[in-house]
Amino acid sequence: MNTKEDKVLVIDDNAVIRKLASNLLEKKGYAVITAENGTSGITLAKSQLPKVILLDLMMPEMDGYEVCRQLKAFDDTKDIPIIMVTSRSDSLDKIKGLELGAADYVPKPFDYGELQARVQTQIKMKNLWDELQEKNKYLEDLIKKDGLTNLYNHRHFHERISEEFSRSKRYTVPLSCVLIDIDHFKNVNDRYGHQAGDEILKTLARMLKHNIRDCDFAARYGGEEFSLILPHTVLEKASALCERIRGNVESSQFQFNDKKIGITISLGVAGVPDNTPVSYSELIRFADEALYNAKEDGRNKVRIFTKK
Ligand code: GH3
Ligand code: MG
Ligand code: MG
Repeated sequence: MNTKEDKVLVIDDNAVIRKLASNLLEKKGYAVITAENGTSGITLAKSQLPKVILLDLMMPEMDGYEVCRQLKAFDDTKDIPIIMVTSRSDSLDKIKGLELGAADYVPKPFDYGELQARVQTQIKMKNLWDELQEKNKYLEDLIKKDGLTNLYNHRHFHERISEEFSRSKRYTVPLSCVLIDIDHFKNVNDRYGHQAGDEILKTLARMLKHNIRDCDFAARYGGEEFSLILPHTVLEKASALCERIRGNVESSQFQFNDKKIGITISLGVAGVPDNTPVSYSELIRFADEALYNAKEDGRNKVRIFTKK
C-alpha cells in the first residue's frame, strides 16, 4: 500500500471526472487533491507539491498545455510528473504535450486499472528522482568540504571569496578576509604525534565556527592554515574578532588522551574598502602578507595589512 504522503493533484473542469479519479486513486492509498481549472491547479501544485499531476487537456480558459507550460517554467514544480488526460487520439496533440514536458498520457474514458498503474509508475519514478537529488546534494557537500575538520575546503573558499568580492564591489559593502596559521605546529606533531595534531586541527575548526556569525565563512585553507570570509565587516571589526579568537586559542587547553596541549595562532587580516584590493586574489594576498608580518613580529599576533 502507498503512504498518504504520496499526493496526487487532479486538475479537471469536469466534476464527475474529478470524483472518479479521486475514488480510483484513493483506493490505491494516495491522498488526492483536486482543482477545477488551470489557475487554481497551478496554485495548488505550488503550495502542495504533489508527487504527480493528472491534468485534463481540454479545459475552458486555460487548457492543459498552458498549465503544463507554466508548471514546467517554475522551479519548485518543474520536476513533478504530469499525466495528460485526453479524449482525443490525435497523435499531434500528444507530441505537443510531450514536447512541453508531460510524462505520460491516459485516455478518457478511463480504464481504471490503466489509470492506477500509470499514476503508480510516475510516483515510483518521482520518488527515485527525489532520492537521487538528495544524494547529489550530499555529494556536492562532500566536494566542498574538508574531510578532517568538516570545514569548507580550499577550492570552495576560492569560489566563495570570488563571489563575495564581486558582491562587495557591486553593492559597495565592506568585506574582510582572514588567514590563520598555527604557530610552530611542526613541534606539536613532533612532540605529541600526528594524531594529537589532527585532534587540535579539529578542535580549532570547531572554535573558529563557534566564533563567527552564520553569514561568515570558515575554511581549511591548507595543512594547518585556516581562512575566514567576513561579509559586511569592516577591517576594524574583523581585527577585533581576530583578536578575540587569538586570545581564546591562547587560553584554551587542547586535550589529547590525558595530555593538555597549548597552542597559539597568528592571524593576518585585509579588507575592502580599506586596502583597496583590485581582485579577490589580491585581497587574499594582502591577508597573507599580514599573516607573514604576524609571524615575523613573534607569532601569536593579529596583523592588519597596510600598504608600504
Ligand atoms: P610556523 O609558526 O612558522 O607556522 O611553524 P609551523 O611548524 O607551524 O610551520 P611549518 O610550515 O614548518 O609546518 C607545518 C606543520 O603542519 C607541518 C605539518 O606536518 C603540519 N600539518 C599540516 N597538515 C597537517 C595535518 O593534517 N595533520 C597534522 N597532524 N599536521 C599537519
Ligand atoms: Mg603553515
Ligand atoms: Mg604554522
